[in-house]
Amino acid sequence: MDKSPQELVKLRHHIHQHPELSNEEVKTAALIYEKLEALNPDELYKNIGGVGLAAVFNGDEPGPGILFRSELDALPIDETIDIPYRSKVKGVSHKCGHDGHMAIIYGLAREIATNRPKRGRVIILYQPAEETGDGARAIVADPQYPLIKPDYAFALHNLPGNPVGQVMVKAGPFNCASRGMIINLTGYTAHAAYPETGNSPALALADLLQDFPKIADGIEKDELLMTTTIHAIMGEPALGIAPADATFMVNLRSESNEGMEMLVNAARELAEKTAKKYDLRLNIDWTEVFDASQNDPECVDQVVKAATATGHDVKMLEEPFRWAEDFGAISASAKGAMFAFGAGEGRPQIHNSDYDFPDELIEKGKSIFFEIYKNYLL
Ligand SMILES: [Zn+2]
Ligand SMILES: [Zn+2]
Repeated sequence: MDKSPQELVKLRHHIHQHPELSNEEVKTAALIYEKLEALNPDELYKNIGGVGLAAVFNGDEPGPGILFRSELDALPIDETIDIPYRSKVKGVSHKCGHDGHMAIIYGLAREIATNRPKRGRVIILYQPAEETGDGARAIVADPQYPLIKPDYAFALHNLPGNPVGQVMVKAGPFNCASRGMIINLTGYTAHAAYPETGNSPALALADLLQDFPKIADGIEKDELLMTTTIHAIMGEPALGIAPADATFMVNLRSESNEGMEMLVNAARELAEKTAKKYDLRLNIDWTEVFDASQNDPECVDQVVKAATATGHDVKMLEEPFRWAEDFGAISASAKGAMFAFGAGEGRPQIHNSDYDFPDELIEKGKSIFFEIYKNYLL
């Protein structure tokens, strides 16, 4: 087996060239499965929460279960940089750096395979569909999850705009909860000359546009609560017809799951009130539901200790990140911590079409996770 750092870089580049969208990561999962199998883990699971995978290495003595997570999915973004390992799939690319996370976690598994735990067990988890927010929840809901359920769970996310290898972490709320709301209003079309014979959703849409940004002001909870208007459309571009249909899309964001529940209730009430006022039919769909991610203080201490021991700069955050990450579903089933990992200043942001995960982070990320593993299980 090639055990060089270069093999991990090659693995990332290979994955980068063959990206797959959320819940379609079949080939990526098959590749990782094969590589994990070659490491001779004590237990190996597939098809967890979709195409999720887990390799388990057991110690001889009793001890805690420690889980490390990577994501498998790429994004529906056309890559706009010319790199030798450019995405071969038009319109799909690894713009969130999950290719790098996969290489880090595989490197960790490879190192654990030759330094097996003395006690407890370590679980190497590859989850699908992080970008849509349903992967981690599907893992936890899977009937196989009790077989791999950890006591402690760890994950990182690369974060450009910060010094390479800087570890950014905090106890308590770490990532926001987020959820998409799609409101459909239906009235009745009319001839443009006789709009009074129909029922247009135009004024209702105008109310929603004005009132949704103010929802959080009416909620008494001391945390960040946001509603961001995303999309609004009505009728057809046909000048002879007064419209019947309108669609309004908004993103809700909060620091805690309780805050999200309050936002959701307020948003639903506002939509119902508005539909009623204008006598329109209302349909509400929810999508891309991410739980808030809470970091356990003990796990944060482990991250800080491991990052410091491996020579990484640590920055303690005061505020949680506004972005959402579905790891919260896994850490809620155990104790857990996620940290952001600086991917270099002056770089494009994740989800930008010219972003590329820096290879130098692979060994760095691996070393921090291995240190956490060592502290718990060796
Ligand atoms: Zn992403
Ligand atoms: Zn991501």
